[in-house]
Amino acid sequence: MAWRPAPPAGEQAERAAGAFRAAYGREPWGIFSAPGRVNLLGEHIDYSGGTVLPLALPHRTVVAVAPREDGLVRAVSAQEDGGIRAVPLDDVAPGAVEGWLAYVAGVPWAMAREGLGEYPGADLAVDSAVPLGAGLSSSAALECAVALAFDALAAEGAAAGASDGASDPDPDPAPAARRSDRSPWSATDAGRARLAAACILAENEIAGASTGGMDQSISLRAREGSVLAIDCRDFSSAPVDVDLDAAGLALLVIDTRAPHRLVDGQYARRRKGCDDAARALGLGTLRDALGEHPDAGAADRALERWDALDPASAAPKAEVPNGKGPKREDPNGDGPDGEGLDGNGPDREGRDGDGPDRKRPESRDGAPPVRALLRHAWTEMARVQRCADLFREFREPEARPGPWAELGGLLAASHASLRDDYAVSCAELDLAVDAAHRAGALGARMTGGGFGGSAIALVGRDDAEPVARAVARAFAREGFAPPEFMLASPSAAARRER
Ligand code: ADP
Ligand code: MG
Repeated sequence: MAWRPAPPAGEQAERAAGAFRAAYGREPWGIFSAPGRVNLLGEHIDYSGGTVLPLALPHRTVVAVAPREDGLVRAVSAQEDGGIRAVPLDDVAPGAVEGWLAYVAGVPWAMAREGLGEYPGADLAVDSAVPLGAGLSSSAALECAVALAFDALAAEGAAAGASDGASDPDPDPAPAARRSDRSPWSATDAGRARLAAACILAENEIAGASTGGMDQSISLRAREGSVLAIDCRDFSSAPVDVDLDAAGLALLVIDTRAPHRLVDGQYARRRKGCDDAARALGLGTLRDALGEHPDAGAADRALERWDALDPASAAPKAEVPNGKGPKREDPNGDGPDGEGLDGNGPDREGRDGDGPDRKRPESRDGAPPVRALLRHAWTEMARVQRCADLFREFREPEARPGPWAELGGLLAASHASLRDDYAVSCAELDLAVDAAHRAGALGARMTGGGFGGSAIALVGRDDAEPVARAVARAFAREGFAPPEFMLASPSAAARRER
Protein backbone atom coordinates (compact mmCIF):
# COMPACT_ATOMS: atom_id res chain seq x y z
CA MET A 1 0.00 0.00 0.00
CA ALA A 2 1.44 3.33 -1.03
CA TRP A 3 1.61 6.15 1.49
CA ARG A 4 2.88 9.55 0.41
CA PRO A 5 4.37 11.23 3.49
CA ALA A 6 5.11 14.95 3.46
CA PRO A 7 8.89 15.44 3.30
CA PRO A 8 10.43 17.61 6.04
CA ALA A 9 10.47 21.24 4.84
CA GLY A 10 14.25 21.55 5.15
CA GLU A 11 14.85 18.47 3.07
CA GLN A 12 12.56 19.64 0.30
CA ALA A 13 14.08 23.13 0.32
CA GLU A 14 17.53 21.59 -0.02
CA ARG A 15 16.33 19.51 -2.96
CA ALA A 16 15.00 22.63 -4.70
CA ALA A 17 18.23 24.49 -3.97
CA GLY A 18 20.22 21.60 -5.47
CA ALA A 19 18.05 21.60 -8.58
CA PHE A 20 18.51 25.37 -8.84
CA ARG A 21 22.32 25.10 -8.66
CA ALA A 22 22.34 22.27 -11.20
CA ALA A 23 20.17 24.22 -13.65
CA TYR A 24 21.62 27.72 -13.35
CA GLY A 25 25.10 27.33 -11.87
CA ARG A 26 24.53 29.79 -9.03
CA GLU A 27 23.01 29.96 -5.59
CA PRO A 28 19.30 30.67 -5.14
CA TRP A 29 18.47 34.04 -3.57
CA GLY A 30 15.55 32.68 -1.61
CA ILE A 31 13.35 29.61 -1.17
CA PHE A 32 9.56 29.76 -0.82
CA SER A 33 6.86 27.15 -0.33
CA ALA A 34 3.09 26.85 -0.48
CA PRO A 35 0.75 23.98 0.46
CA GLY A 36 -1.74 21.91 -1.48
CA ARG A 37 -5.18 21.55 0.08
CA VAL A 38 -8.17 19.37 0.68
CA ASN A 39 -11.62 20.79 1.06
CA LEU A 40 -13.47 19.33 4.04
CA LEU A 41 -16.87 20.47 2.82
CA GLY A 42 -18.39 22.92 0.35
CA GLU A 43 -17.57 21.58 -3.10
CA HIS A 44 -18.31 23.33 -6.38
CA ILE A 45 -19.83 26.29 -4.58
CA ASP A 46 -16.88 28.69 -4.46
CA TYR A 47 -17.86 30.19 -7.80
CA SER A 48 -21.44 30.48 -6.57
CA GLY A 49 -20.51 32.59 -3.56
CA GLY A 50 -20.70 29.74 -1.06
CA THR A 51 -18.58 29.25 2.03
CA VAL A 52 -15.93 26.55 1.69
CA LEU A 53 -13.98 24.74 4.41
CA PRO A 54 -10.54 23.84 3.11
CA LEU A 55 -7.39 23.02 5.04
CA ALA A 56 -3.79 23.22 3.89
CA LEU A 57 -1.98 19.91 3.44
CA PRO A 58 1.42 19.24 4.98
CA HIS A 59 2.47 18.52 1.38
CA ARG A 60 3.99 21.61 -0.22
CA THR A 61 5.45 22.95 -3.46
CA VAL A 62 8.86 24.54 -3.00
CA VAL A 63 10.37 27.15 -5.33
CA ALA A 64 14.01 28.28 -5.27
CA VAL A 65 14.48 31.64 -6.95
CA ALA A 66 17.00 34.32 -7.93
CA PRO A 67 16.33 37.50 -9.90
CA ARG A 68 17.42 38.28 -13.47
CA GLU A 69 18.14 41.69 -14.99
CA ASP A 70 16.87 40.87 -18.47
CA GLY A 71 13.17 40.35 -17.76
CA LEU A 72 13.30 36.67 -18.63
CA VAL A 73 11.41 34.12 -16.51
CA ARG A 74 13.11 30.73 -16.60
CA ALA A 75 11.99 27.64 -14.71
CA VAL A 76 12.80 23.98 -14.23
CA SER A 77 10.59 21.49 -12.43
CA ALA A 78 11.47 18.19 -10.80
CA GLN A 79 8.00 17.04 -11.89
CA GLU A 80 8.30 17.94 -15.58
CA ASP A 81 10.82 16.74 -18.17
CA GLY A 82 12.30 19.01 -20.76
CA GLY A 83 14.83 21.04 -18.80
CA ILE A 84 14.78 24.81 -18.54
CA ARG A 85 11.79 26.63 -20.01
CA ALA A 86 11.90 30.37 -20.58
CA VAL A 87 9.66 33.28 -21.57
CA PRO A 88 10.29 37.04 -21.50
CA LEU A 89 7.94 38.61 -18.97
CA ASP A 90 6.98 41.14 -21.65
CA ASP A 91 5.70 38.33 -23.88
CA VAL A 92 3.39 36.83 -21.26
CA ALA A 93 -0.22 37.23 -22.40
CA PRO A 94 -3.36 35.06 -22.57
CA GLY A 95 -2.65 32.15 -24.90
CA ALA A 96 1.04 32.99 -25.24
CA VAL A 97 2.61 30.56 -22.76
CA GLU A 98 2.39 26.82 -23.28
CA GLY A 99 2.07 24.14 -20.64
CA TRP A 100 3.20 24.28 -17.04
CA LEU A 101 5.34 27.40 -17.49
CA ALA A 102 2.07 29.35 -17.67
CA TYR A 103 1.46 28.57 -13.98
CA VAL A 104 4.82 30.21 -13.21
CA ALA A 105 5.14 33.13 -15.63
CA GLY A 106 1.45 34.00 -15.32
CA VAL A 107 1.92 34.98 -11.69
CA PRO A 108 4.25 38.02 -12.00
CA TRP A 109 2.20 39.04 -15.06
CA ALA A 110 -0.99 38.95 -12.99
CA MET A 111 0.63 40.63 -9.98
CA ALA A 112 1.66 43.51 -12.21
CA ARG A 113 -1.80 43.59 -13.79
CA GLU A 114 -3.38 43.79 -10.34
CA GLY A 115 -1.21 46.78 -9.57
CA LEU A 116 0.82 45.02 -6.89
CA GLY A 117 4.16 46.17 -8.25
CA GLU A 118 6.76 45.77 -10.94
CA TYR A 119 8.62 42.53 -11.13
CA PRO A 120 12.06 41.54 -12.35
CA GLY A 121 12.78 38.44 -14.38
CA ALA A 122 13.84 35.41 -12.41
CA ASP A 123 15.29 31.92 -12.51
CA LEU A 124 13.23 29.35 -10.63
CA ALA A 125 13.50 25.70 -9.66
CA VAL A 126 10.29 23.92 -8.61
CA ASP A 127 9.89 20.81 -6.49
CA SER A 128 6.47 19.59 -5.39
CA ALA A 129 5.31 17.08 -2.81
CA VAL A 130 1.72 17.75 -3.92
CA PRO A 131 0.87 15.21 -6.60
CA LEU A 132 0.05 16.90 -9.92
CA GLY A 133 -3.51 16.64 -11.21
CA ALA A 134 -4.74 14.74 -8.14
CA GLY A 135 -7.34 17.30 -7.16
CA LEU A 136 -5.12 18.48 -4.28
CA SER A 137 -4.32 21.78 -5.95
CA SER A 138 -0.73 21.46 -7.08
CA SER A 139 -1.56 24.30 -9.48
CA ALA A 140 -2.37 26.78 -6.69
CA ALA A 141 0.54 25.53 -4.58
CA LEU A 142 2.87 26.33 -7.48
CA GLU A 143 1.29 29.74 -8.18
CA CYS A 144 1.32 30.77 -4.54
CA ALA A 145 4.95 29.77 -3.94
CA VAL A 146 5.87 31.72 -7.08
CA ALA A 147 3.80 34.70 -5.91
CA LEU A 148 5.65 34.81 -2.60
CA ALA A 149 8.96 34.60 -4.44
CA PHE A 150 8.21 37.56 -6.75
CA ASP A 151 6.64 39.47 -3.88
CA ALA A 152 9.85 39.17 -1.87
CA LEU A 153 12.07 39.95 -4.88
CA ALA A 154 10.19 43.17 -5.51
CA ALA A 155 9.85 44.22 -1.87
CA GLU A 156 13.39 43.44 -0.84
CA GLY A 157 14.96 44.53 -4.12
CA ALA A 158 17.29 41.84 -5.24
CA ALA A 159 19.02 43.29 -8.23
CA ALA A 160 22.48 41.94 -7.52
CA GLY A 161 23.44 38.63 -9.04
CA ALA A 162 20.61 39.08 -11.44
CA SER A 163 22.61 38.23 -14.53
CA ASP A 164 23.32 34.73 -15.70
CA GLY A 165 25.19 32.68 -13.15
CA ALA A 166 27.96 31.72 -15.52
CA SER A 167 29.25 35.28 -15.63
CA ASP A 168 28.51 35.94 -11.99
CA PRO A 169 30.63 33.78 -9.74
CA ASP A 170 29.81 35.84 -6.65
CA PRO A 171 26.16 35.19 -5.85
CA ASP A 172 25.92 37.70 -2.99
CA PRO A 173 22.45 39.23 -3.40
CA ALA A 174 22.92 41.93 -0.78
CA PRO A 175 22.86 45.28 -2.66
CA ALA A 176 19.32 46.42 -2.99
CA ALA A 177 19.39 48.53 -6.13
CA ARG A 178 15.67 48.18 -6.77
CA ARG A 179 14.56 48.03 -3.19
CA SER A 180 11.03 49.35 -3.03
CA ASP A 181 11.04 50.16 0.69
CA ARG A 182 7.68 48.63 1.32
CA SER A 183 6.82 45.48 3.17
CA PRO A 184 5.83 42.52 1.07
CA TRP A 185 2.14 41.88 0.42
CA SER A 186 2.65 38.54 2.14
CA ALA A 187 3.16 40.34 5.47
CA THR A 188 -0.58 40.73 6.12
CA ASP A 189 -3.68 38.64 5.51
CA ALA A 190 -5.18 41.45 3.44
CA GLY A 191 -2.01 41.52 1.32
CA ARG A 192 -2.17 37.79 0.90
CA ALA A 193 -5.77 38.07 -0.26
CA ARG A 194 -4.50 40.39 -3.02
CA LEU A 195 -1.78 37.90 -3.94
CA ALA A 196 -4.46 35.19 -4.09
CA ALA A 197 -6.51 37.33 -6.47
CA ALA A 198 -3.45 37.66 -8.72
CA CYS A 199 -2.88 33.89 -8.66
CA ILE A 200 -6.52 33.31 -9.62
CA LEU A 201 -6.10 35.75 -12.51
CA ALA A 202 -2.92 33.96 -13.61
CA GLU A 203 -4.62 30.57 -13.62
CA ASN A 204 -7.70 31.88 -15.44
CA GLU A 205 -5.99 34.07 -18.02
CA ILE A 206 -2.54 32.63 -18.62
CA ALA A 207 -2.91 28.93 -17.76
CA GLY A 208 -6.42 29.08 -19.26
CA ALA A 209 -8.00 27.06 -16.44
CA SER A 210 -11.23 28.06 -14.77
CA THR A 211 -10.79 28.26 -11.00
CA GLY A 212 -13.11 29.56 -8.36
CA GLY A 213 -10.58 30.97 -5.91
CA MET A 214 -10.72 28.56 -2.99
CA ASP A 215 -7.40 26.90 -3.78
CA GLN A 216 -5.29 30.05 -3.94
CA SER A 217 -6.98 31.51 -0.86
CA ILE A 218 -6.28 28.54 1.39
CA SER A 219 -2.72 28.11 0.11
CA LEU A 220 -1.85 31.73 0.92
CA ARG A 221 -4.04 32.30 3.98
CA ALA A 222 -4.18 28.97 5.86
CA ARG A 223 -3.57 28.80 9.61
CA GLU A 224 -1.81 25.80 11.05
CA GLY A 225 -4.25 23.70 13.09
CA SER A 226 -7.31 25.31 11.53
CA VAL A 227 -9.81 24.75 8.81
CA LEU A 228 -10.32 28.07 7.03
CA ALA A 229 -13.93 29.08 6.48
CA ILE A 230 -13.77 31.20 3.32
CA ASP A 231 -16.84 33.16 2.32
CA CYS A 232 -16.42 33.24 -1.44
CA ARG A 233 -18.73 36.25 -1.86
CA ASP A 234 -15.93 38.52 -0.68
CA PHE A 235 -13.17 36.05 0.21
CA SER A 236 -13.28 37.05 3.85
CA SER A 237 -12.01 34.16 5.93
CA ALA A 238 -12.10 32.89 9.49
CA PRO A 239 -9.92 30.13 10.90
CA VAL A 240 -11.80 27.41 12.79
CA ASP A 241 -9.75 25.29 15.19
CA VAL A 242 -10.33 21.65 14.40
CA ASP A 243 -8.30 19.34 16.57
CA LEU A 244 -8.83 15.96 14.95
CA ASP A 245 -6.04 14.46 16.97
CA ALA A 246 -7.59 15.39 20.29
CA ALA A 247 -10.81 13.78 19.11
CA GLY A 248 -8.90 10.60 18.24
CA LEU A 249 -9.61 11.12 14.55
CA ALA A 250 -7.63 11.44 11.34
CA LEU A 251 -8.38 12.70 7.87
CA LEU A 252 -7.30 10.19 5.27
CA VAL A 253 -6.68 11.43 1.72
CA ILE A 254 -7.12 8.90 -1.06
CA ASP A 255 -5.55 9.87 -4.38
CA THR A 256 -7.42 7.60 -6.77
CA ARG A 257 -4.85 8.32 -9.48
CA ALA A 258 -7.70 8.18 -11.95
CA PRO A 259 -6.86 10.30 -14.95
CA HIS A 260 -8.87 13.52 -15.14
CA ARG A 261 -11.42 13.12 -17.85
CA LEU A 262 -13.08 15.93 -19.79
CA VAL A 263 -12.47 18.24 -16.90
CA ASP A 264 -12.20 21.62 -18.54
CA GLY A 265 -15.40 21.66 -20.56
CA GLN A 266 -17.39 19.91 -17.85
CA TYR A 267 -16.33 22.34 -15.16
CA ALA A 268 -17.07 25.35 -17.36
CA ARG A 269 -20.54 24.05 -18.29
CA ARG A 270 -21.57 23.52 -14.69
CA ARG A 271 -20.21 26.88 -13.72
CA LYS A 272 -22.08 28.54 -16.56
CA GLY A 273 -25.26 26.72 -15.56
CA CYS A 274 -24.97 28.19 -12.06
CA ASP A 275 -24.08 31.67 -13.32
CA ASP A 276 -26.99 31.72 -15.78
CA ALA A 277 -29.40 30.50 -13.11
CA ALA A 278 -28.30 33.21 -10.68
CA ARG A 279 -28.88 35.80 -13.39
CA ALA A 280 -32.31 34.38 -14.21
CA LEU A 281 -33.18 34.74 -10.53
CA GLY A 282 -31.90 38.29 -10.50
CA LEU A 283 -29.13 37.41 -8.04
CA GLY A 284 -25.44 38.24 -7.94
CA THR A 285 -24.58 34.69 -6.91
CA LEU A 286 -26.54 31.55 -6.02
CA ARG A 287 -25.56 32.09 -2.39
CA ASP A 288 -27.73 35.20 -2.31
CA ALA A 289 -30.84 33.03 -2.67
CA LEU A 290 -30.37 31.65 0.85
CA GLY A 291 -30.41 34.81 2.94
CA GLU A 292 -28.73 35.19 6.31
CA HIS A 293 -28.88 31.62 7.54
CA PRO A 294 -28.28 29.20 4.67
CA ASP A 295 -29.83 26.13 6.26
CA ALA A 296 -31.76 23.22 4.75
CA GLY A 297 -35.04 25.15 4.91
CA ALA A 298 -33.51 28.04 3.01
CA ALA A 299 -32.24 25.60 0.37
CA ASP A 300 -35.77 24.17 -0.04
CA ARG A 301 -37.28 27.63 -0.37
CA ALA A 302 -34.69 28.62 -2.98
CA LEU A 303 -35.56 25.55 -5.05
CA GLU A 304 -39.25 26.42 -4.81
CA ARG A 305 -38.44 29.88 -6.03
CA TRP A 306 -36.59 28.36 -8.97
CA ASP A 307 -39.49 26.03 -9.75
CA ALA A 308 -41.87 28.97 -9.75
CA LEU A 309 -39.83 30.79 -12.36
CA ASP A 310 -41.45 30.61 -15.77
CA PRO A 311 -39.26 28.18 -17.73
CA ALA A 312 -39.79 30.09 -20.97
CA SER A 313 -41.21 33.49 -20.31
CA ALA A 314 -40.29 34.37 -23.87
CA ALA A 315 -42.75 31.77 -25.12
CA PRO A 316 -46.43 31.20 -24.42
CA LYS A 317 -47.27 28.43 -21.95
CA ALA A 318 -48.84 26.27 -24.68
CA GLU A 319 -45.42 25.79 -26.21
CA VAL A 320 -43.92 24.18 -23.16
CA PRO A 321 -42.40 21.01 -24.60
CA ASN A 322 -44.36 17.77 -24.26
CA GLY A 323 -47.22 19.77 -22.92
CA LYS A 324 -45.94 19.37 -19.40
CA GLY A 325 -47.59 21.65 -16.94
CA PRO A 326 -45.90 24.05 -14.62
CA LYS A 327 -43.18 22.62 -12.44
CA ARG A 328 -45.20 22.35 -9.27
CA GLU A 329 -47.56 19.77 -10.81
CA ASP A 330 -44.81 17.44 -11.83
CA PRO A 331 -45.28 14.30 -9.73
CA ASN A 332 -41.55 13.78 -9.37
CA GLY A 333 -41.11 17.31 -8.24
CA ASP A 334 -38.29 17.75 -10.64
CA GLY A 335 -40.16 19.27 -13.51
CA PRO A 336 -39.29 18.98 -17.19
CA ASP A 337 -35.73 18.22 -16.17
CA GLY A 338 -36.76 14.96 -14.63
CA GLU A 339 -36.24 12.78 -17.69
CA GLY A 340 -32.77 11.80 -16.60
CA LEU A 341 -29.51 13.22 -15.56
CA ASP A 342 -28.15 13.73 -19.03
CA GLY A 343 -30.96 16.19 -19.67
CA ASN A 344 -30.54 15.84 -23.39
CA GLY A 345 -33.99 14.70 -24.39
CA PRO A 346 -35.25 15.77 -27.81
CA ASP A 347 -37.77 18.10 -26.18
CA ARG A 348 -34.88 20.21 -25.16
CA GLU A 349 -34.17 21.48 -28.62
CA GLY A 350 -34.26 25.19 -29.05
CA ARG A 351 -34.59 25.79 -25.33
CA ASP A 352 -30.96 25.95 -24.39
CA GLY A 353 -30.20 29.10 -26.26
CA ASP A 354 -29.30 32.47 -24.87
CA GLY A 355 -32.69 34.02 -24.51
CA PRO A 356 -33.49 37.05 -22.40
CA ASP A 357 -32.04 36.88 -18.90
CA ARG A 358 -35.35 36.07 -17.28
CA LYS A 359 -35.80 33.00 -19.42
CA ARG A 360 -34.98 30.10 -17.17
CA PRO A 361 -31.86 28.29 -18.38
CA GLU A 362 -32.05 24.51 -18.63
CA SER A 363 -29.26 22.01 -19.11
CA ARG A 364 -26.69 22.33 -21.84
CA ASP A 365 -24.14 20.17 -23.58
CA GLY A 366 -24.29 17.08 -21.43
CA ALA A 367 -24.17 18.87 -18.09
CA PRO A 368 -26.88 17.88 -15.60
CA PRO A 369 -30.20 19.74 -15.66
CA VAL A 370 -29.80 23.16 -14.11
CA ARG A 371 -32.24 22.23 -11.35
CA ALA A 372 -29.93 19.40 -10.30
CA LEU A 373 -26.96 21.80 -10.28
CA LEU A 374 -28.95 24.16 -8.08
CA ARG A 375 -30.06 21.43 -5.72
CA HIS A 376 -26.44 20.47 -5.21
CA ALA A 377 -25.25 24.04 -4.75
CA TRP A 378 -27.95 25.02 -2.28
CA THR A 379 -27.97 21.82 -0.24
CA GLU A 380 -24.16 21.91 -0.12
CA MET A 381 -24.31 25.46 1.22
CA ALA A 382 -26.74 24.20 3.88
CA ARG A 383 -24.38 21.34 4.77
CA VAL A 384 -21.54 23.83 5.20
CA GLN A 385 -23.72 25.91 7.54
CA ARG A 386 -24.58 22.82 9.56
CA CYS A 387 -20.88 21.94 9.72
CA ALA A 388 -20.04 25.44 10.97
CA ASP A 389 -22.63 24.94 13.72
CA LEU A 390 -21.07 21.57 14.56
CA PHE A 391 -17.62 23.14 14.80
CA ARG A 392 -18.93 25.18 17.70
CA GLU A 393 -20.00 21.98 19.45
CA PHE A 394 -16.57 20.42 18.89
CA ARG A 395 -15.23 22.81 21.46
CA GLU A 396 -17.26 21.12 24.14
CA PRO A 397 -15.17 18.47 25.90
CA GLU A 398 -17.85 15.77 25.58
CA ALA A 399 -18.15 16.34 21.86
CA ARG A 400 -17.41 12.78 20.81
CA PRO A 401 -18.95 10.93 19.07
CA GLY A 402 -22.21 12.75 18.30
CA PRO A 403 -21.14 15.79 16.29
CA TRP A 404 -18.25 14.00 14.64
CA ALA A 405 -20.58 11.26 13.47
CA GLU A 406 -22.90 13.96 12.14
CA LEU A 407 -19.99 15.57 10.31
CA GLY A 408 -19.32 12.15 8.78
CA GLY A 409 -22.93 12.09 7.61
CA LEU A 410 -22.50 15.51 6.01
CA LEU A 411 -19.46 14.26 4.09
CA ALA A 412 -21.41 11.25 2.85
CA ALA A 413 -24.36 13.43 1.81
CA SER A 414 -22.02 15.82 0.02
CA HIS A 415 -20.59 12.95 -1.98
CA ALA A 416 -24.02 11.64 -2.94
CA SER A 417 -25.00 15.13 -4.10
CA LEU A 418 -21.81 15.58 -6.14
CA ARG A 419 -22.29 12.13 -7.65
CA ASP A 420 -26.02 12.24 -8.39
CA ASP A 421 -26.89 15.93 -8.86
CA TYR A 422 -23.69 17.61 -9.94
CA ALA A 423 -22.38 14.53 -11.76
CA VAL A 424 -18.69 15.21 -11.17
CA SER A 425 -17.70 11.92 -9.56
CA CYS A 426 -16.34 8.84 -11.33
CA ALA A 427 -16.11 5.10 -10.71
CA GLU A 428 -12.82 5.33 -8.80
CA LEU A 429 -14.04 8.11 -6.49
CA ASP A 430 -17.32 6.30 -5.82
CA LEU A 431 -15.43 3.10 -5.04
CA ALA A 432 -12.99 4.88 -2.71
CA VAL A 433 -15.88 6.47 -0.82
CA ASP A 434 -17.94 3.28 -0.62
CA ALA A 435 -14.99 1.15 0.46
CA ALA A 436 -14.00 3.69 3.12
CA HIS A 437 -17.56 3.74 4.49
CA ARG A 438 -17.73 -0.05 4.51
CA ALA A 439 -14.41 -0.19 6.37
CA GLY A 440 -15.74 2.02 9.14
CA ALA A 441 -15.03 5.62 8.11
CA LEU A 442 -17.34 8.12 9.83
CA GLY A 443 -17.80 9.72 6.43
CA ALA A 444 -16.08 10.08 3.09
CA ARG A 445 -16.47 12.12 -0.05
CA MET A 446 -14.68 13.25 -3.18
CA THR A 447 -12.77 16.50 -2.71
CA GLY A 448 -11.77 19.06 -5.33
CA GLY A 449 -13.18 19.40 -8.80
CA GLY A 450 -13.86 15.70 -9.41
CA PHE A 451 -13.75 13.54 -12.57
CA GLY A 452 -10.83 11.70 -10.97
CA GLY A 453 -8.56 13.12 -8.32
CA SER A 454 -8.90 12.51 -4.61
CA ALA A 455 -11.34 11.58 -1.88
CA ILE A 456 -11.17 12.21 1.86
CA ALA A 457 -12.32 9.94 4.68
CA LEU A 458 -12.86 10.94 8.29
CA VAL A 459 -11.65 7.96 10.31
CA GLY A 460 -10.70 6.99 13.84
CA ARG A 461 -6.96 7.55 14.20
CA ASP A 462 -6.27 3.85 14.52
CA ASP A 463 -8.51 3.08 11.58
CA ALA A 464 -6.53 5.04 8.97
CA GLU A 465 -4.36 2.07 8.11
CA PRO A 466 -7.13 -0.58 7.88
CA VAL A 467 -9.42 1.78 5.93
CA ALA A 468 -6.61 2.51 3.48
CA ARG A 469 -5.96 -1.20 3.13
CA ALA A 470 -9.64 -1.87 2.44
CA VAL A 471 -9.72 0.85 -0.23
CA ALA A 472 -6.54 -0.51 -1.85
CA ARG A 473 -8.06 -4.02 -1.90
CA ALA A 474 -11.27 -2.75 -3.49
CA PHE A 475 -9.26 -0.98 -6.20
CA ALA A 476 -7.25 -4.13 -6.91
CA ARG A 477 -10.47 -6.15 -7.19
CA GLU A 478 -11.85 -3.70 -9.76
CA GLY A 479 -8.61 -3.65 -11.72
CA PHE A 480 -8.03 0.07 -11.00
CA ALA A 481 -4.51 1.44 -10.59
CA PRO A 482 -3.37 1.34 -6.95
CA PRO A 483 -4.43 4.48 -5.06
CA GLU A 484 -2.05 6.52 -2.97
CA PHE A 485 -2.73 7.64 0.61
CA MET A 486 -1.88 10.69 2.65
CA LEU A 487 -2.79 12.00 6.08
CA ALA A 488 -4.06 15.55 6.18
CA SER A 489 -3.56 17.75 9.20
CA PRO A 490 -4.24 21.48 8.88
CA SER A 491 -0.88 22.97 7.94
CA ALA A 492 0.68 26.39 7.48
CA ALA A 493 0.18 28.86 4.63
CA ALA A 494 2.71 29.81 1.96
CA ARG A 495 5.92 31.03 3.56
CA ARG A 496 9.55 31.78 3.07
CA GLU A 497 11.72 28.77 3.86
CA ARG A 498 15.05 30.62 3.74
P1 ADP B 1 -4.31 20.05 -9.44
O1 ADP B 1 -4.24 21.50 -9.14
O2 ADP B 1 -5.50 19.40 -8.86
O3 ADP B 1 -3.07 19.31 -9.08
P2 ADP B 1 -4.45 21.07 -12.11
O4 ADP B 1 -4.78 20.44 -13.39
O5 ADP B 1 -5.24 22.23 -11.67
O6 ADP B 1 -4.48 19.90 -11.01
O7 ADP B 1 -2.95 21.56 -12.12
C1 ADP B 1 -1.92 20.67 -12.51
C2 ADP B 1 -0.99 21.40 -13.45
O8 ADP B 1 -0.27 22.43 -12.74
C3 ADP B 1 0.09 20.51 -14.01
O9 ADP B 1 -0.37 19.83 -15.17
C4 ADP B 1 1.18 21.51 -14.35
O10 ADP B 1 0.91 22.18 -15.55
C5 ADP B 1 1.05 22.52 -13.21
N1 ADP B 1 1.95 22.15 -12.10
C6 ADP B 1 1.58 21.91 -10.82
N2 ADP B 1 2.63 21.59 -10.05
C7 ADP B 1 3.71 21.62 -10.85
C8 ADP B 1 5.11 21.36 -10.66
N3 ADP B 1 5.60 20.99 -9.47
N4 ADP B 1 5.92 21.51 -11.72
C9 ADP B 1 5.44 21.88 -12.92
N5 ADP B 1 4.14 22.11 -13.16
C10 ADP B 1 3.28 21.98 -12.16
MG1 MG C 1 -5.64 22.96 -9.76
